[in-house]
Amino acid sequence: MKLILLGPPGAGKGTQARRIMDAHGIPQLSTGEMLRAAVDEGTEMGKMAEKIMDRGELVSDDIIVGMISERIDQPDCANGFILDGFPRSEAQAEALDSMLAERGLALDCVIEMQVDDEALVERLTGRFTCANCGAGYHDKFQQPKVEGVCDVCGGTEFTRRADDNEETLRSRLTVYHGQTAPLLPYYQGHGVLRSVDGMADIDEVTRQIEAVVNSCGEGGGND
Ligand code: ADP
Ligand code: AMP
Repeated sequence: MKLILLGPPGAGKGTQARRIMDAHGIPQLSTGEMLRAAVDEGTEMGKMAEKIMDRGELVSDDIIVGMISERIDQPDCANGFILDGFPRSEAQAEALDSMLAERGLALDCVIEMQVDDEALVERLTGRFTCANCGAGYHDKFQQPKVEGVCDVCGGTEFTRRADDNEETLRSRLTVYHGQTAPLLPYYQGHGVLRSVDGMADIDEVTRQIEAVVNSCGEGGGND
């Protein structure tokens, strides 16, 4: 099963990708997480990407496409993957089409997560993540069961993203509407676009995504 979760920053892509990963045993490929790992490691690419990410702009297509192309050849992607945050431009979507075609693969579906812009500021300014395992939380919408303790790994350290502030979010949203939203008609034209109500609560969004996954792909099969 090869899926794309498509939606603005804060739509819930990472939250739902982790749930699909747990339910279907296929990895989440988040270009944002790959870039943040490069920033933390202090690589040349990470140093260059950090400045762009702080401005809420897009890192160059060449770098991103190269990262994904290497990643989908890893053994854990043999049964499929969930793309989270990629593609983000028409050039990236076309590069993805080519890299899949070269490998004799095709997308099963692209799931659009529809969320109003006004909701995204509250989603992102309240977002935090377990520093140990990366599980995602929210100050209001998804608190750990025991305050200060990660539900998944028991970790007690949490981090907040540097770009989750109102100013950077405004630029990320402009970029989303200008460069990423045109992928909706692109994938509509390819007959693979499906939409879910990303304004619903987290469990309801998961139910809607599961319904889509079971109807558009092999429902978690081995392709
Ligand atoms: P994205 O990966 O699309 O940027 P996240 O999955 O990180 O978004 O979600 C952004 C924030 O909103 C997180 O703090 C998450 O806990 C919260 N969140 C995710 N889905 C929902 C939802 N359906 N309703 C309310 N809050 C949500
Ligand atoms: P995300 O974690 O998906 O919110 O991405 C965080 C930031 O990483 C974005 O604001 C971009 O600067 C950069 N980024 C992530 N994915 C991509 C991509 N596919 N293309 C270009 N830049 C990206």
